[in-house]
Amino acid sequence: MIITLTDGADPVDVRAALTDLGLWVHEFSGERGTTQFLVRPYSGHVDRADLLSLAGVADVSQPASVHPLVDAQPSTVRVGPARIGADAAPVLMAGPCSVESEDQIHTVARRLADIGAAFLRGGAFKPRTSPYDFQGMGGEALGWLRDAADEHGLQVVTEAMSESSMTEVAEVADLVQIGSRNMHSTPLLRAAGRTGRPVLLKRGMAATVDEWLAAGEYCLDAGAPVVVFCERGIRSFDDRTRNLLDLASVALLRHVYGHPVIVDPSHALGRRDLVLPLGRAAIAAGAAGLLIEVHPQPGAALSDGPQAVSFEVAAELAGSMRADRPAMLAGES
Ligand code: PEP
Ligand code: MN
Repeated sequence: MIITLTDGADPVDVRAALTDLGLWVHEFSGERGTTQFLVRPYSGHVDRADLLSLAGVADVSQPASVHPLVDAQPSTVRVGPARIGADAAPVLMAGPCSVESEDQIHTVARRLADIGAAFLRGGAFKPRTSPYDFQGMGGEALGWLRDAADEHGLQVVTEAMSESSMTEVAEVADLVQIGSRNMHSTPLLRAAGRTGRPVLLKRGMAATVDEWLAAGEYCLDAGAPVVVFCERGIRSFDDRTRNLLDLASVALLRHVYGHPVIVDPSHALGRRDLVLPLGRAAIAAGAAGLLIEVHPQPGAALSDGPQAVSFEVAAELAGSMRADRPAMLAGES
């Protein structure tokens, strides 16, 4: 909401009164240099009438949201038979970074079905930093992924990297993944939306929460039935972990804005030893599920081996997700 002050009001006093109401307050210069405040509740709801009754407040207006469709999306969404969001049990999406062979993806699918995963992940087209790194098996891998998922009652989540391969990807994906590097690619976001498939939208590694939500708006505006957000770590100054897992954004999306958000601790941490504790922390923060990288032989993975967990760790995480979450749901008001 935007607060306009009365002539002669002391901005310091008005700011203090707004802060007392539990509002986050951002000061900016309005028309003709007058002081205005952009305010947002930290949580819950503040009545416009309460704000208007404060001394020094002349007007309270609601700026038009830049992502009205995202705002209108329910906090729990449906992707095929799965429900993802605040009112659903946490979902597990898991699989290798890259689909490497037909055998590999069938083995992974079988093991993941055994531990109750809902989605099989695996990249056929890989966004790699170096052009000399393994780029994925391409279209052929999409068919292997679909067959393996079908055989074991799983759904498919896989990344589309280009507009030209979007149709091919959307034909096999129950959830079309837009990767971190492409979150800002508005033509790709629109192309994903036009397929009519649900979209898993990873957060750009240097994207603000508002940019991330606005990227979701592109998908919904172009025709996506739902957008599920995925926090996968943002760039920080510290290189001890691959990225910085921003659990604050997860809590914001879940508890303040009411959007379905899942967490990818694998790309956030870049190291397998921390996937279990941070996966649990993500669920505690409000994540509707996890996306993790699992490999039958993590040491031999063609991409992202250091962050791939074994089936045993994936099973432990699946078990603790279910054990932790109902207790939290019961404790939530
Ligand atoms: C992935 O999930 O395979 C991937 C490349 O992730 P991100 O876009 O988050 O780096
Ligand atoms: Mn990966």
